[in-house]
Amino acid sequence: MRSFARIKVRGIPLWGWAAAAVLYVVAAASAAAFAWQRSIESIAEVGSHRLDLYAAALRSELGRYETVPGIVARQDSVRALLHAEPGAARAALLPEVNRYLEAVNGDTGGLAVDVIDRQGEVIAASNWNQALSFIGTNVSYRPYFLDALARGSGRFFGIGTNTGVPGLYFASAVLDAGKPAGAVAVKVSVDAFESAWRSPGEAAMVVDGNGVIVISTVPAWKFAALTPITPERQRQIEASKQYAGRAVALLPHQKLDRWSASARFARYPDWTRPGHDKRFLELSRPAPQAGDSLMVLLDVEPAMRQLRTAFAFVTALFMIAGLYALYATQRRRAIAEKLKGQDALREANDHLEATVAERTAELTAANAAMQREIAERARTEQELVHAGKLAVLGQMAAGLTHELNQPLGAIRTLSDNARSFLERNQQPLAIANLERISKLVDGMAVLTGELKTFARKSDVQPVAVSLDDAVAHALLIYEARLRDKDVQLDVRIPAGTTVWAEPSQLQQVLVNLLGNALDAVADEPQRSIAIEAHDADQPGRVLFSIADSGTGIAPEVLPHLFEPFVTTKPRGRGLGLGLAITSRLVLGFGARIFASNRPDGGAQFTIEFMSMTETGVVDG
Ligand code: ADP
Repeated sequence: MRSFARIKVRGIPLWGWAAAAVLYVVAAASAAAFAWQRSIESIAEVGSHRLDLYAAALRSELGRYETVPGIVARQDSVRALLHAEPGAARAALLPEVNRYLEAVNGDTGGLAVDVIDRQGEVIAASNWNQALSFIGTNVSYRPYFLDALARGSGRFFGIGTNTGVPGLYFASAVLDAGKPAGAVAVKVSVDAFESAWRSPGEAAMVVDGNGVIVISTVPAWKFAALTPITPERQRQIEASKQYAGRAVALLPHQKLDRWSASARFARYPDWTRPGHDKRFLELSRPAPQAGDSLMVLLDVEPAMRQLRTAFAFVTALFMIAGLYALYATQRRRAIAEKLKGQDALREANDHLEATVAERTAELTAANAAMQREIAERARTEQELVHAGKLAVLGQMAAGLTHELNQPLGAIRTLSDNARSFLERNQQPLAIANLERISKLVDGMAVLTGELKTFARKSDVQPVAVSLDDAVAHALLIYEARLRDKDVQLDVRIPAGTTVWAEPSQLQQVLVNLLGNALDAVADEPQRSIAIEAHDADQPGRVLFSIADSGTGIAPEVLPHLFEPFVTTKPRGRGLGLGLAITSRLVLGFGARIFASNRPDGGAQFTIEFMSMTETGVVDG
């Protein structure tokens, strides 16, 4: 049930459609019924009004002629005529009576006025001088004559037996000594009514006591019966020749539902369209003449039109309302969709922004971490350089002590001897000693100069440095150890070879490499170190190498050789910083360093110094 209630068609729930449908049916039906009711009411009112008018017309017309036969019957000439015996006496009176009747008929505007004798023979008539004169006609079978003789007056609707013209007959008895001697009859035309009552979409009729239409605005319906004629009645009709011997046929029609006491719906032939029938509102009421009735048939098509209009109006209203509802729903949905889309977009945007912010934060953090690491590394490297320097200084200090102690001892001996030579007046010998002292002091000055070079703050500014000088200085530092260990030294550096480097740092590099080579050969039976330089393939480049006959670089060390704290030396002897610092310094010159083990044993370190134009890297 819940799911059913949720079903929507074009955005409107099913129950909404159902409610709208019910509402539509109710509204359309009510509107149509109301329109029909009102319309029929007004048609009935019109019909009723018509009936009033027709009844009044009939009454006045009948009233006008009603008295005429009575007046004529009292006329002396008329009474005399009927009193006279047929024959000469009557013939003498006849012209006067005929002329009188002619005058009366002319005054009243009727069809004819006759005088009828007791036997029912017309003996005088207003149309005495016309071809179709009634004189001589026997009307004894006519009900108006019989009624006049029996009750003093008679009325009758019939068709003239001579003329075939329909009309209303009024009759009055002519009394002779209180007894009826004959009758006077007046015949009146009904044509006037028929033409006066004719109105489009409407039929008006007078139906007589037999149920036969005697006055009708529809000519074809005249003398048709509205009720079935019984055989007995048929005989009477034939006897009275009321309808001049015409066969009275039933008018095919069908009574439908009743609308009110005086109105009902009925289906009658449509006189405007032969072969079709139509629904009418039938109104009837008793006509002034006893036994007759007046009837109007009114077209209900206008009411049908009203009904259809009301129906169409309600339908149109509902369609407009429905279309508007659909439009409004669609619009609401479109707006909702749009808002949803905007929300989704905003959400996606927010998400994107959040992601971007997140990533940015991550990147920023990573960047900061990297910066820190770089700073850390730089600091570490600086520290390493410094530590390396200290280590070298330590080695240098040891070397220097050794180096200085020896000349100092020599100077002491030489100066002691010089004093002895002076005391013995051996001046030339004393001078020779002093000269040797001076030379030794020069050598010491060189050593201390080296110290100064190392101590100076390194400010990397590569310059052209004499490579052979640099190598000579480094060798001087290790002179004692080289000599102690009896190392075979082979130095081949062409005179005037210059390389691009920072002099003190180059010094440090050479000391490191030479120190390592010394360490490597120290405990070997064969101890040799070869130092060599030559121009490389490209102009301005110099290849420099130090090779030793030592143990060679351990295979596990080789891949990590230039990394800090990589060492194979016992604790206290090696920090594993030398090559790390060396490689860094070499890079600082814009140069490169390689290490390898030689095929015939021992290690070889090669530095490729770049030309001046190639070096661009300047770093502390
Ligand atoms: P340390 O000398 O303090 O150990 P280095 O960075 O100078 O630090 O050297 C690292 C290591 O490289 C040494 O411990 C040694 O194993 C190896 N090494 C360096 N030079 C040589 C060489 N000439 N022959 C053999 N091994 C060497």
